[in-house]
Amino acid sequence: MHNKTIAQIARDLAAGEYSSVEVTQSYLDRIQQLDHNYNSFITVTAEQALAQAAAADAMRAAGNATPWTGVPMAHKDIFCTNGVLTSCGSRMLSNFVAPYDATVVANFNNAGAVSLGKLNMDEFAMGSSNESSFYGAVHNPWQLDHVPGGSSGGSAAAVAARLVPGATATDTGGSIRQPAAFCGVTGIKPTYGRVSRWGMIAFASSLDQGGTITRTAEDSAMMLNVMAGFDPKDSTSMQQDVPDYTANLNDSIAGLTIGLPKEYFRDDLSSNMQQQVRNAIAEYEKLGATVKEISLPNTHLAIPVYYVIAPSECSANLSRMDGVRFGHRCDDPQDVNDLFKRSRGEGFGEEVKRRIMVGTYALSAGFYDAYYKKAQQVRRLIKNDFVEAFKQVDVIMSPTTPSPAFKAGEKTSDPVAMYLEDIFTIAINLAGLPAMSIPCGQVDNLPVGLQLIGNYFDESRLLNLGHQFQQVTDWHQQTPADLV
Ligand code: GLN
Repeated sequence: MHNKTIAQIARDLAAGEYSSVEVTQSYLDRIQQLDHNYNSFITVTAEQALAQAAAADAMRAAGNATPWTGVPMAHKDIFCTNGVLTSCGSRMLSNFVAPYDATVVANFNNAGAVSLGKLNMDEFAMGSSNESSFYGAVHNPWQLDHVPGGSSGGSAAAVAARLVPGATATDTGGSIRQPAAFCGVTGIKPTYGRVSRWGMIAFASSLDQGGTITRTAEDSAMMLNVMAGFDPKDSTSMQQDVPDYTANLNDSIAGLTIGLPKEYFRDDLSSNMQQQVRNAIAEYEKLGATVKEISLPNTHLAIPVYYVIAPSECSANLSRMDGVRFGHRCDDPQDVNDLFKRSRGEGFGEEVKRRIMVGTYALSAGFYDAYYKKAQQVRRLIKNDFVEAFKQVDVIMSPTTPSPAFKAGEKTSDPVAMYLEDIFTIAINLAGLPAMSIPCGQVDNLPVGLQLIGNYFDESRLLNLGHQFQQVTDWHQQTPADLV
């Protein structure tokens, strides 16, 4: 049962092969038996899941099923869930039971999906290794002493370990694509504004975007069908029609032009990584696509720009966590300043504090123009590179990461080494474009991801390209060697 995709489970439920209660129970059993190896869940909502499953079975019996009725999934613990702990991986919110559902969560509930619980993540989504969670590190199912990537490491590890067929995730600078690549699964970050951010705890509001982690592109399309769309509660959500993302999966890709940015195929990229990615691109050529070298000349500015903008926005967003209205509060505050200082000092971890300090500095009166404003100006140049590139090509491809999953502990003492992990993913968030990572090979028994970058609102094309690749290759079906 656990090897089935979302599409297969949906078909089986429709055919009456088993009930939603049965499939839900089998996943809950599997989580209970195996998740101590991975630590991918923060909260398992077994009782609620079984109640949702029973309701889904009743809906189906009454003839009211949608494609999602009774299908199990889980949410990254950054999405508010009514009545359920929503911790964002932080001690600060370790007592926060959300009083409402995020729009994304409500959409899945309304579609009849069953939520198995809340998935582990880097604290407030800041990180690339899932080692900064208050709830402990997540382990990569391919090799347990390696990181699963971050910040959506719980989502990626749980899908790779077959503890859940699909999960929500978020991506501010690579947090869907990098863990998807490290865990050998499929992840898509849609265009900025495509998925509502309402009830998704904010890290850097101009970059954050919700998306999916699944095993196949087809399953990502099914999830996006539920998630995408205008939300009047999110002022940056786009008023644009949502296509049926499953409709074009089987279209031919013959005649498409793939751009390969020379700045993403650098000499210091290991030859093994290069080879896996080049092999994948050769598969696309066999399917009728042509390849063209392009240049994104401002690529080298993406990391410095991101690490001014993201901390600036995070320092503003996280100011609401003050120990007064919700979240952690220190014992016996002497006065209001003491309350703020100690509640925040105790509630936030090291990386979050580092970002708040950098951001507060960059936004301060004397430095705003020199740092934040300048970073926004360079951000426009980075975006313009992509706008120019998409005049020549239909899609851009690159490795998702410079290397496969690194060892736990390898980069924790060196924040800059950790920041460089996102070198191929961050520019896409700065530009607001959609991008996907699909498994395309292995190096040293660890998965390698291929990144597909699309033009604005071209998610359907990315899913089509992912699906076509997954029809002629089996990287997405490989499982970690000792997975039971
Ligand atoms: N690794 C990046 C960071 O630490 C991106 C995180 C994300 O996409 N949420 O900020």
